[in-house]
Amino acid sequence: MTAGDVAPTPQRRRPAAGAFLKLFLRNRLAAAGAILLTAVVLLSVLAPLLPLQDPYAQDTAQKFLRPFSPGHLLGTDHLGRDILSRLIWGTRLSLVVGLVASFGAAFFGSVIGITAGYFGGRTDNWLMRAIDMLMAFPYILLALAIVAALGPGLVNALIAVAVVNIPFFARNIRGVTVTLAHKEFVDAARLAGMTDLRIMVSEILPNVLPVIVIAMSTTVGWMILETAGLSFLGLGSQPPVADLGSMLGEGRNALITDPHASIVPGLMIFVIVMSVNLLGDGIRDALDPRLRSGALTRPMARTIVDRNAVPQPPADPALLNVQELRTEFRVGSRTLKALSGVTLQVRPGECLGLIGESGSGKSVTALSVMGLVASPPGVIAGGAVRYAGTEVLGAPFSELRKLRGDRISYIFQDPLATLHPLYRVGDQIVEAIQAHHAVSKSKARARALELLEAVRIPNASSRIDNFPHELSGGMRQRVGIAMALVNEPDLIIADEPTTALDVTVQAQILSLLDDLRRERGVAILFITHDFGVVAQLCDRIAVMYAGRIVETGPTAAILADPAHPYTRRLIACVPELGEGQRELHAIPGLPPAVDDLPPGCAFAPRCDKAQPACRTGEIPLDAFGSERAVRCLFPESDQAGGAA
Ligand code: ADP
Ligand code: MG
Repeated sequence: MTAGDVAPTPQRRRPAAGAFLKLFLRNRLAAAGAILLTAVVLLSVLAPLLPLQDPYAQDTAQKFLRPFSPGHLLGTDHLGRDILSRLIWGTRLSLVVGLVASFGAAFFGSVIGITAGYFGGRTDNWLMRAIDMLMAFPYILLALAIVAALGPGLVNALIAVAVVNIPFFARNIRGVTVTLAHKEFVDAARLAGMTDLRIMVSEILPNVLPVIVIAMSTTVGWMILETAGLSFLGLGSQPPVADLGSMLGEGRNALITDPHASIVPGLMIFVIVMSVNLLGDGIRDALDPRLRSGALTRPMARTIVDRNAVPQPPADPALLNVQELRTEFRVGSRTLKALSGVTLQVRPGECLGLIGESGSGKSVTALSVMGLVASPPGVIAGGAVRYAGTEVLGAPFSELRKLRGDRISYIFQDPLATLHPLYRVGDQIVEAIQAHHAVSKSKARARALELLEAVRIPNASSRIDNFPHELSGGMRQRVGIAMALVNEPDLIIADEPTTALDVTVQAQILSLLDDLRRERGVAILFITHDFGVVAQLCDRIAVMYAGRIVETGPTAAILADPAHPYTRRLIACVPELGEGQRELHAIPGLPPAVDDLPPGCAFAPRCDKAQPACRTGEIPLDAFGSERAVRCLFPESDQAGGAA
């Protein structure tokens, strides 16, 4: 196991570059853009080596020859010069000017943006007001004014185009820098005594670099077009040197009689700008990490269900019945089996604790129940979820939506992330009520107040108008619980609701949940990694490991006498106060990677009692005594499992 854990790290890098390329190529248009642009760039780079005619050699006897004339593949222009040769040399010039202009704009724009964003205050104000002044003019007019002041010429046109594009970069980069400048890693660098310049270069720059690359990839096209525009007006390249814009300008006079002289450079401009833009879009999409695992689509409203058969309804008429649930993440060619057959029941009014190490699949189980796992990449590949006897995974979406937040509600770990930061908490509760019931705003508000009092928020009548950031972590979680209670659900799924809180607040929240459950008869599926928490609240426990339930039974029985070696070791990890210097036993090794589960028992590699039999074949979840079940060939128990 240990060797297996160490090995993947160094290999990480290569798949990342590979993944970028794969994702990029999946976007057909971007790939086409890349191919076209490569061809154009190759042609222009190789221009001196190609057997081209002299682009400046005039021969007025041969003027305006049609394309495909002998010796002139694309014909000749008004001075009898070879258009093919001028096109390739012109393209070369246009590309160089466009690229240099965009590098210039990106460089100066980024320097201004990073400086303004990093120092803030007066520096920011001065720099941004200067940028605003540049932005106050329509930029093509500004470019014309700059060239008029500097005098016509390609270099001046380049400078003008770069200058008018600086604000675009400066604004974008400043925005990103402002959010970075107050991050903890920047504070840490300051504490370490780094100079401002060094922080900007080594801490901020690497983080804004992707934004710069993306901004450049989307602006190179414009800049080529803008330089061509200036040349077209006679302000850029001067005769006899021609870039694409001035070729177009020269051809314009004979547009009706000899259209090829302007169509050829026009087409080339079109091809370059299109391919640069397609390529830029592709790069932007492929660089966005959120798109990397989830293909190039938005998640759907419910998880994709792709299962062969629906299991028979179970005998146990529980409120929530999860049977052999298998949820996978299909990322590219890899399939991560997050859940490989989870079976559990929650009865009315009962609290079931779902416990396991981080990564064992607890959250995926909770989200799969209401089809909330993001698809793609999530797929429910097998099993069934029955709520009050009805199968919900296969039900129409309208049915599922009625259950969500109404009959079954969720409490999440971090209430700051789940509450909307820009709305008052009261309004958010009102919204949750009105999503399912047609009640007036004032009635809903009265109900919200009642709930905030029920979850024991002090001064509820004034707190109702607070924004989430004005509340403490514990109070926010109370609001989260109030929101889960709005529609009097039968079942609350709470995914580590106390993990982000300190111990005293955690104890208060747990006792609140316990009271609410008893008063209102609501069932709870309580997810945690902490046996201490389970012991306070839950009637029964299901222990999860590598996407499966490995042991289940009444809390007291399991705590007193764990049967699965994994459960025993998890319990041994809980520190107890007043126990003197009891040794804490961390579980050696790490949970297995879910895309590569070992055959047999998934815990065997970390188990000190594993036998050869544990490493082969399927290990069933067998009854163990009357109310318990365990997935182990050699369960440990003082009472020897009795009736099993
Ligand atoms: P926990 O028990 O800590 O709540 P989770 O249920 O969040 O664990 O995760 C279970 C497994 O599923 C983990 O191996 C995790 O890496 C994987 N997983 C969760 N979400 C995704 C996702 N969107 N894409 C790929 N893998 C995921
Ligand atoms: Mg989780």
